[in-house]
Amino acid sequence: MSDDGALTFDGMPTRLWSCTPTKLDTWLSCPRRFRFAYLDRRPKGLPWAHNSVGSSVHNALRDWWLLPVERRTPGAATDLVTRNFLTDGFRDDAQIREWRERAAAMTSSYVAHLDPDDEPAGVERTVSTTTHGMALSGRVDRIDRRASDDGADELVIVDYKTGRRPLTDDDARSSLALAVYVVAASRTLRRRSRRVELHHLPTGTVAAHDHTPESIERHLTRAGDIAAEASTAETVWKDRLASRAEDAAAGDADAVEAIDAHFPPSPGPSCSWCDYRRWCPSGRDASSEIAPWSGLADSA
Ligand code: SF4
Repeated sequence: MSDDGALTFDGMPTRLWSCTPTKLDTWLSCPRRFRFAYLDRRPKGLPWAHNSVGSSVHNALRDWWLLPVERRTPGAATDLVTRNFLTDGFRDDAQIREWRERAAAMTSSYVAHLDPDDEPAGVERTVSTTTHGMALSGRVDRIDRRASDDGADELVIVDYKTGRRPLTDDDARSSLALAVYVVAASRTLRRRSRRVELHHLPTGTVAAHDHTPESIERHLTRAGDIAAEASTAETVWKDRLASRAEDAAAGDADAVEAIDAHFPPSPGPSCSWCDYRRWCPSGRDASSEIAPWSGLADSA
């Protein structure tokens, strides 16, 4: 088989499985959730306020880099967040006002430490590659171009984080998504890449890791294993389970059992955060219902 898994031993082309790091993570965390999200396509629950904050900040940072260099100021970042702030999931107007200000403040203080002239190699750039039986793609928040020790330019993968938990270098090292982006950005932009960084805006800290060929290969092998499992289940779904989805949704025990054999649930306390909890009795039993603004720091 070739490196990218495109050929079998007998030389016949084999289909690459199209996926994103999010899709792989979803399978890993809960196959039933994977089914709801990518196959059944069930409607999600209520939007989360912390996602509104995250999207507002990400959008503002994207638009900030689109401004002419002389307008890339902290004040412009404040304006971009304030004008386009997303309001889904908050408790009330007072909470929206508070978080609009907090999001604007964290974004403007973050850009105050950026060099507006240091044009990134990509902003919200889609990158892709084929490897280990997968056609992988994803969108990177920012791809920087920096000089390495030997003087050659390298691509650095930058991922913005706005959650309440500060991040560690171990988070950067163990992130499958960031490792995949190293490979995909390198192939797409034809330049060397190995460093990944998590920029945590609420604390202004950066967690980083420099990958080696070996650590990248470990991530890709793991991604390939997850993809093989998920794609096999997806084939079974298309061949013989999709036709039973309606029966399962209506509570037919046989249909539920047949589908769960290939897409088992992974119930636990974290089901509180699952967008598909309303469709999932085992997830509801294992977790408590929480308010859409529960993911905000200091939320009541
Ligand atoms: S509620 Fe829990 S068990 Fe059910 S689909 Fe979501 S993550 Fe899986």
